[in-house]
Amino acid sequence: MQFDVLTIFPGMFQGYFGESIIKRAQKKKLLDIRVHDLRKWATDKHHKVDDKPYGGGPGMVFKVEPIARALRALRIRNYESGIMNKVRVVLTSARGKQFTQADAKRLAKYKRVVIICGRYEGVDERVAEHLVDEEISIGHYVLTGGELPAMVMIDSIARQIPGVLGKQESLEESRGGSFPTYTRPEVFTLHATRYTLKRLKVPKVLLSGDHKKIATWRAQAARRRASPT
Ligand code: SAM
Repeated sequence: MQFDVLTIFPGMFQGYFGESIIKRAQKKKLLDIRVHDLRKWATDKHHKVDDKPYGGGPGMVFKVEPIARALRALRIRNYESGIMNKVRVVLTSARGKQFTQADAKRLAKYKRVVIICGRYEGVDERVAEHLVDEEISIGHYVLTGGELPAMVMIDSIARQIPGVLGKQESLEESRGGSFPTYTRPEVFTLHATRYTLKRLKVPKVLLSGDHKKIATWRAQAARRRASPT
């Protein structure tokens, strides 16, 4: 699966995508993450991609032209490679539809996902209305840019691609939910206050060796928690 990220801060992605599972998935050619500097598609000598908002107000707004040019350039390649209908273009937006685990699963079915990272006061509305397939928010709060949302989405979509997760890491997915996990020691003594100690024990069922009971306990615990679907 290929991701194309359009951003004015490509350097932000190196750290996260250069480590751990995502790095390994790229090495194994399961993932191809291409981070593009949007300024590449600006036409003036200062590589300007933003301008003042019509109607006044603070801040700057991303212009429609560089984004349209970038998408055209990326889409042309899709036509050539014959995967046009397997591409999804997503605009990160504080007022988009909230991203869920179901969206991660749905987007993982595309061959290619293009993610546009806004900044400043946002993006010229014509991008949302005419150039993208969907607008996605990662939560009910406003961030300074779409880079973290792009990383969050890519991370959770990538987990859905077969082979990206090792056996250990796929435990939760395979059991259908997020259940509580414990590791050694069996009893941890917490110094709750200067005078009181608390003995925090691992639930007995997990030490029982009875895999059926453990699976039932985990399923119940996952249901009790508001687990992603
Ligand atoms: N004035 C804009 C608004 O109210 O929607 C906020 C713009 S925000 C400072 C700049 C950019 O960050 C947005 O264009 C979007 O790309 C991204 N962004 C901010 N919060 C986000 C969120 N919760 N989910 C996804 N993207 C977000």
